[in-house]
Amino acid sequence: MPVILFLIIHWYLSLFSQTFFLHRYGAHKMFTMTPFWEKFFFLFTWFTQGSSYLNPRAYAVMHRMHHAYSDTEMDPHSPHYFRDAFQMIWKTKDYYNALVTHKIEPEARFDKNYPVWPAMERMAESSISRYLFGAAYVAFYFFFATQWWMWLFLPIHFFIGPIQGAIVNWAGHKYGYTNFNDGDQSKNTLFIDFLLLGELFQNNHHHFAARSNFGAKWWEFDPVYPVIKVLNWIGVVKIVKSA
Ligand SMILES: [Zn+2]
Ligand SMILES: [Zn+2]
Repeated sequence: MPVILFLIIHWYLSLFSQTFFLHRYGAHKMFTMTPFWEKFFFLFTWFTQGSSYLNPRAYAVMHRMHHAYSDTEMDPHSPHYFRDAFQMIWKTKDYYNALVTHKIEPEARFDKNYPVWPAMERMAESSISRYLFGAAYVAFYFFFATQWWMWLFLPIHFFIGPIQGAIVNWAGHKYGYTNFNDGDQSKNTLFIDFLLLGELFQNNHHHFAARSNFGAKWWEFDPVYPVIKVLNWIGVVKIVKSA
């Protein structure tokens, strides 16, 4: 039981970092926050993504390209240009690394206005941090896994950020229904997206890229939107353009 609980908690905390901090704040600036809260969520992203911490700059640049070139050859991770999900994941990883190491210099319009904290980022991206988080996951399983099959979940913890991104990029541009026709392949995969915290409303999100609510119809529920509303209400964030 502790292992399953750990998996669920890790899944949702890491996913929250990705959708709230890296995606909605870092890449889209759907809301603003003070430098204090930006640092708080930087650290939150490090601790929750742990061994698979994603760099906000590389994330923002790649994601803005994805919006600008959705499902064309210039889209860094459209599922329609890859044989299978693994090939897409591999290429996405290569592109991400090339951005992090500055082997690729993106268009200037994508490469600005994202959260930066060099000292923390160096720490979060160091091998020592990644290995220590990995070791912590193994230790947790060592002490709490009571059945052999529970160990099958362990790799999810190592790569949790990229796994969540890959599900969204693959399923969200392949499976589901559309509300808007913007000429790309973006889909809304679930009616109530508790699994990927609203990220699977890709079709709505591509249509209203600046809107912090990913649900568009009354029956589409994005679980992160109420959280953003509460954070807006208590003054942690300030929504720039609300639904
Ligand atoms: Zn998309
Ligand atoms: Zn987006």
